[in-house]
Amino acid sequence: MQAIAKVRPEPGVEIVEAPDPTPGPGEVKLKLEAASVCGTDLHIWKWDAWSAGRIRPPRIIGHEFCGTIVELGEGVEGLSVGQYVSTESHATCGHCRQCRAGQREVCANTSILGVDIDGGFRPYATIPASCAMPTDRRVPPHLAAFQDALGNAVHTVSDGPVEGQTVLITGMGPIGLFAVTVAKAMGAARVVATEISPYRTELAHAVGVDRVIDPTKEDARAELAREFPGGVDATLEMSGHPTSLALAVEATRPGGRLSCLGVYGEARQTIDMNAVIFKGINLHGIVGRRLPETWNLMRELFEAGRLNLEPVVTHRMHYTEFERAMELMAAGKAGKVVFDF
Ligand code: ZN
Repeated sequence: MQAIAKVRPEPGVEIVEAPDPTPGPGEVKLKLEAASVCGTDLHIWKWDAWSAGRIRPPRIIGHEFCGTIVELGEGVEGLSVGQYVSTESHATCGHCRQCRAGQREVCANTSILGVDIDGGFRPYATIPASCAMPTDRRVPPHLAAFQDALGNAVHTVSDGPVEGQTVLITGMGPIGLFAVTVAKAMGAARVVATEISPYRTELAHAVGVDRVIDPTKEDARAELAREFPGGVDATLEMSGHPTSLALAVEATRPGGRLSCLGVYGEARQTIDMNAVIFKGINLHGIVGRRLPETWNLMRELFEAGRLNLEPVVTHRMHYTEFERAMELMAAGKAGKVVFDF
């Protein structure tokens, strides 16, 4: 069986021969139906400071995938052979203070699939049973595979009121694009985005954004002030770009919320804290997916049939074409790349 793995502590990944895995206690074995590539996989491929500090090679990568359970390890309850599941990439401990308080998304002992434990870029994979999220068969594999990433968008959008609200989303990467359709599906009154790439702007229109502002071509502050006098109800910062963060603080109305998911290249950022305080902005950091609330809401959104996800899937290829996927993503010429097995 061929697997995509980080074999050495250096840039790149390799196709390796891996044994057919046997599920240990508390694990399930999946036959893969589809997987998708995340920005995290790109970081691992590039071997940036974050991946070099976190990953201990050899490691089979890939954390967004779906498939059918073919074997249960010892002690697994509530799941069955033949069940269709998608992955939650965060394996949580269940006993730390946060886990006990129902805040598993910030578990103190999180292990991440394809990062801390072997992932799913292989035809058969074993995963902790807690990472196997039952999925409706009506959700096709090429969409079910990336529910982990879609869940980031669902978590960020649902971090505050949505229905009837005006929403600004800064950055139209895949999760920003997902957030557009999630916000629309949840009844947002108007969704405006900022993005500088024409390729991503086109995808944003395809998923139903009301307007995209290109800050390199328009005065984003003036445009937002004209469109939303008094500010937007909710801003979702998805870009991880310093100027977008400053714009987000400025564009959010007094009493509004600013939900931050984008990760910054430089951790220390300067923002107008007095604006945050005197405008009474609810500033939230968003990580992972709330367990199980985000997955429950995601199921409802799929069931309602109002998510427009197909335009985000720009490429499909066999999983062994990993290098081509990385080159497309590094060039910013891809939405979601989905792997077939
Ligand atoms: Zn925990």
